[in-house]
Amino acid sequence: MAKRKEYSIISFVGRVNVGKSSLFNLLSGQKDFAIVDARPGTTADTVAARMEIHGLGPVKVLDTAGIDEYSKLGEKKRKKTYEAIEEADLTLIVIDLANNTKDRDFALEKEVAARALKYNKQVLIIYNIFSTKKSLEQTKKFKNLFNKKLGLNLPSICLDALNSKEQKKFIKFISIHFKKESLDIDLIPLPQGKGYVLLNIPMDEETPALRILRPQDMAVERLLRKYLIPVLFRLDLKKARANDETEKKRFLALLKHLHNSSEGLKLIITDSQAMDILDHWTPSDIPLTTFSVMMANYMSCGNLDLFVKGLEAFSFLRNGDKILIMESCNHNRKCDDIGTKQIPRLIKEKLGLKPKIDFSFGRVMPDDLSRYKLAIHCGGCMADRQKYGRRIIKLKEAGIPITNYGLFLSWIHNPKAVKRVCKIFRI
Ligand code: SF4
Repeated sequence: MAKRKEYSIISFVGRVNVGKSSLFNLLSGQKDFAIVDARPGTTADTVAARMEIHGLGPVKVLDTAGIDEYSKLGEKKRKKTYEAIEEADLTLIVIDLANNTKDRDFALEKEVAARALKYNKQVLIIYNIFSTKKSLEQTKKFKNLFNKKLGLNLPSICLDALNSKEQKKFIKFISIHFKKESLDIDLIPLPQGKGYVLLNIPMDEETPALRILRPQDMAVERLLRKYLIPVLFRLDLKKARANDETEKKRFLALLKHLHNSSEGLKLIITDSQAMDILDHWTPSDIPLTTFSVMMANYMSCGNLDLFVKGLEAFSFLRNGDKILIMESCNHNRKCDDIGTKQIPRLIKEKLGLKPKIDFSFGRVMPDDLSRYKLAIHCGGCMADRQKYGRRIIKLKEAGIPITNYGLFLSWIHNPKAVKRVCKIFRI
């Protein structure tokens, strides 16, 4: 089965000046990766670095702002830190052991741990000894005392963040305790072997020059890995929509050629925008899906049924209800953009509905989700799966149904097409 190795996310979280950035640098092996300064609040925003750690594989490491800055800016920083905790597979709570007074309270650290554990994330405790001249016995004594006060029963270690020789010990500690969960999922669940897979890539003014989009790129890579043969085709959408017979003939001739070949045509994956055309043009015995549906299944770790169920929301939507259209990236909107133009227009024209539509692009999502009756998400190809997963959790917590561009565009043109595009994913 063709699989893609995903990276784990590790976040450093703690109060200001406990040595999070120094530990981040220690783990990365790069002294100056994150800015380190004795002044409190140096880390203003989450800093991310990708690296390959022997024994852990590819990881994305997040250095976060201190959680105990009590100002308006501190509040904003804390929000980002909480996001990092919810996305990270592993949160390292950093505690300053040099400042080892017995009456310290650990309410904030407990809150961080509770937040991570609530989302089934893993937590480890790092005590930073800051090159202090404490004896081993003193260090051990305070580590035990603080562990008892924390009452979390989590693995912990004492480290000197400023000593580069501690890196090995640090990595070993993480490797032993971090239970890496496999996020592997088959992007295109076809068996390895013979066969053509037709990828329909219409291309428009928004298509970037010199490359194909990530979902198309991923599909090609997975198919080649399985010894299947990707065939890339560019449908002229304008001509196809104008019932241009030559365009239809061009597509059908290729289909016939592949279908009748000794290899056979196993699947067609199309850009969602062309679903209205391809659903009609493709004989029902040829499996058909869309890149967006493929990505929704992959990014949600096989939870495509959640997005199918989200379509039910259209049966109870009323004029004035709020819909959230979400994309995981910001891109130039040049023409008949799917998110901002096509979907709102189809909702209005095909369903006769006049909802209020908000848009959320890139990293951020609205704080108050409770005002929405439905969220429609893009394929999410530019996000990591942990971030995408956090979005799903937040929408579920708020009780908001979620669907996806590809499913919506299939359903709006032909409700029966939903079953068709999901069939390959056994939904
Ligand atoms: S993140 Fe979403 S909007 Fe951006 S390119 Fe990928 S699918 Fe399209």
